[in-house]
Amino acid sequence: MPSLGEKMQDIYDEVLWRNPGEQEFHQAVHEVLDSLGPVMAKHPSYTDAAVVTRLCEPERQIIFRVPWVDDAGTVRINRGFRVEFNSALGPYKGGLRFHPSVYLGVVKFLGFEQIFKNALTGMPIGGGKGGSDFDPKGRSDAEVMRFCQSFMTELYRHIGEYTDVPAGDIGVGGREIGYLFGQYKRITNRYESGILTGKGHSFGGSQVRTEATGYGVVFFVDEMLHANGDSFDGKRVVVSGSGNVARYAIEKVHALGGTVVACSDSTGYVVDEKGIDLALLNEVKEVRRGTLAEYAGLRGADARLATSGNVWQVPCDIALPSATQNELDAEDATVLARNGCRILAEGANMPVTPDAVKLLTTAGVAFAPGKAANAGGVATSALEMQQNASRDSWSFEHTERRLGEIMRGIHDRCLETAEEYGVPGNYSAGANIAGFIQVADAMLALGVI
Ligand code: GLU
Repeated sequence: MPSLGEKMQDIYDEVLWRNPGEQEFHQAVHEVLDSLGPVMAKHPSYTDAAVVTRLCEPERQIIFRVPWVDDAGTVRINRGFRVEFNSALGPYKGGLRFHPSVYLGVVKFLGFEQIFKNALTGMPIGGGKGGSDFDPKGRSDAEVMRFCQSFMTELYRHIGEYTDVPAGDIGVGGREIGYLFGQYKRITNRYESGILTGKGHSFGGSQVRTEATGYGVVFFVDEMLHANGDSFDGKRVVVSGSGNVARYAIEKVHALGGTVVACSDSTGYVVDEKGIDLALLNEVKEVRRGTLAEYAGLRGADARLATSGNVWQVPCDIALPSATQNELDAEDATVLARNGCRILAEGANMPVTPDAVKLLTTAGVAFAPGKAANAGGVATSALEMQQNASRDSWSFEHTERRLGEIMRGIHDRCLETAEEYGVPGNYSAGANIAGFIQVADAMLALGVI
């Protein structure tokens, strides 16, 4: 990794020492610290109050045992996490991830990113994240329910409308949020809608929350295009993943006149020159919980399934990595740039490795970091919290309009901040600096706590 200025390097060294073996967390911290040099030079009060050092240390980290019984009657044990990272701006807010790769380093990287992302939305939400190494793949509904109930049996004592408000992430969607909410309600005997977001529409969920992350990424890219007098019209787009973020990004790209020609899952990728058939993809992924092989089989001659290489080999104007962290490396970045890609926006959290980001920016590909581009999900969660607090529910149109305004606001704030700090056009630096200043000012005002 490139070296930081002396002060930031000292802070980073301490992070390495305090958090051994947590590579993803180190990477996320390094990426932010790398942007902060000019901010610290301009605002010495941040250094005096050790704001950066405090920011890198979570306010609270909870690790717990999650025992459950599978369909065969075998007792299973997983590990549950909730990292309550920073509450300077509001209650901790961030999703839960259920995936076998989850360990403390992943939860901390996600929680750290969430602090800045949430600040950028302009909504009153702090940063946190949680999850488990539980793998929902191949598990029956009943097993997923029992796991969620056991998970909430510990988590319930740590969350609350004014304390910490979890939501979904990889492996946690509407089904899981329903089971988690049900167990919270049962344990506490309280119908507290605002303790979770991403709920179903029948029990306090917001319109557009399911679509929000994917729509938001596309709204953000639309702003990037407009800033250059361009639009989605006629653009070739490649998306990685085929989960919630990817699918709603595909829908919005098509609505704005672009064509998504490829997407992927853990088994391979599919190229569909006429444009991915979203209704079919939804059916395969959401209803059948199947793979892209099934999609290709049902789609027939139009689609080609590939199991070697990866989706970044498909030439495109715009790339939207929407699967998981570090999925796009320097080699992929080189191929994308060589094939004429002009814009890359992160739909997932930190899907692009630091080397790849450097390569892309050097090659003149505009890069939008996840903490700005994928903030639409958590922003709409904050809208869900607003609706729950006022016992109201808004229309789809109204909620989508609010999401569009928020994404436009984030886009403009990144660009203006980048300009102000001498790095014009650098969305990453703009996002890091703008998010940091908002949290840092609140931390200064609240004293050393
Ligand atoms: N997991 C999503 C994210 O990465 C959303 C979190 C939320 O809605 O609280 O931002």
